[in-house]
Amino acid sequence: MPSYDAIIIGAGFAGAVAARELAERGSMRVLLLERRSHIAGNAYDRTDASGILIHEYGPHIFHTNQKRVFDYLSRFTQWRNYQHRVVAKVHEHLMPVPFNLTSLRLAFGEEQGAKLEQKLLDAYGPEQKIGILELRQSSDPDLAMVADYIYEHVFLHYTMKQWGTSPEEIDPNTTARVPVFLSRDDRYFQDQYQGMPLHGYTPLFERMLDHPNITLCLNTPAESRLRLTDDKMFLDGERFEGPVIYTGALDELFSCQYGRLPYRTLDFQFETLPQDTFQSHGTVNYTISEEYTRITEFKHLTGQTMPGITTIVKEYSRAYDGASGTIPYYAVISPESRACYEQYRLLSSRYSNFHPLGRLAEYQYYNMDAITERALLLCDELLAR
Ligand SMILES: Cc1cc2nc3c(=O)[nH]c(=O)nc-3n(C[C@H](O)[C@H](O)[C@H](O)COP(=O)(O)OP(=O)(O)OC[C@H]3O[C@@H](n4cnc5c(N)ncnc54)[C@H](O)[C@@H]3O)c2cc1C
Repeated sequence: MPSYDAIIIGAGFAGAVAARELAERGSMRVLLLERRSHIAGNAYDRTDASGILIHEYGPHIFHTNQKRVFDYLSRFTQWRNYQHRVVAKVHEHLMPVPFNLTSLRLAFGEEQGAKLEQKLLDAYGPEQKIGILELRQSSDPDLAMVADYIYEHVFLHYTMKQWGTSPEEIDPNTTARVPVFLSRDDRYFQDQYQGMPLHGYTPLFERMLDHPNITLCLNTPAESRLRLTDDKMFLDGERFEGPVIYTGALDELFSCQYGRLPYRTLDFQFETLPQDTFQSHGTVNYTISEEYTRITEFKHLTGQTMPGITTIVKEYSRAYDGASGTIPYYAVISPESRACYEQYRLLSSRYSNFHPLGRLAEYQYYNMDAITERALLLCDELLAR
């Protein structure tokens, strides 16, 4: 049987970056176990039956200010210049999100919009992002009214759909982060580096994992090869003492013995339509109507030119219950869920060679760039030992 220096569970960004780093920089023989039938985790993309490149687990747009991350991933892909733009469908208008000076004119009309704009610019200056809680506390009732409008038309119902919460349950800290952007820059992200992998995410991962020191096993849940006893780990029955990087859910690893960590899952409804394009923007958020939260049209993101046909995806959010085939997407963070996670974390700390990494194992949301950076830093640390 071949022997390995490191085991990595999960071939998403966290696991794949770590695998490449340990294999290449550390010259380690890496065993990478992935339970799905494909690599790339939630960033996986593929062409659908009509030939349109789709993102199987929802739209993924790359953006970062981290040069190290951008340079690192650029080893495995070229980029298509793409600046994501999102609009909210509010009655008959499509308003840029985050809410900005263009949205202001659409919401309040030219005349009142111009007055409000001047007041906002006088109070905070151009190109600033102001939290709506701050705006609400303004002594000027007009500015408080703008905050109320954004809260009601852009934030409240969307957030209730996304998180399944009532208005009272919405954390004021979250509300504080909802910005009004005093700008006409209608890009969703302002990061220095933005774009889409020119040929898609899956080819990026194929290149990243193409290294002689990496053995990839698809359709292989960790539990089929890896066994944990009180403080030791075994691979195929043999004691394993090298680093084990785990990017799956910690509660699952320990049979949910302290209960399930709460997550939201998503149902994706893909529709292929016989038309050139369906909507004007990559993503349209439905902030006051419809049961779905948003519709994304992939051709905008990927730049694919296919006349007469397009594919869109509608996203429906609901509580994750662990049912087979469903995927936990967004950790529902609360003091209780964090305390529960800490119990699992404590259990995992009994294994000195065990390293939880990624959105599931660390029970927190990461963008692709942030988890790439985390994986690079963890490998820096492991390779310095
Ligand atoms: C709908 C949606 C849209 C997003 N859009 C963006 C975006 O536009 N831009 C952005 O930067 N980020 C986006 N993200 C975040 C992005 O998906 C994450 O940053 C990324 O997936 C994190 O990588 P990961 O490796 O931690 O997790 P994952 O991609 O989930 O990978 C974990 C892998 O581990 C495998 N695994 C789990 N348990 C086991 C086990 N027991 N045995 C074997 N394998 C296992 C899973 O099958 C999976 O392949 C989005 C997320 C969602 C949900």
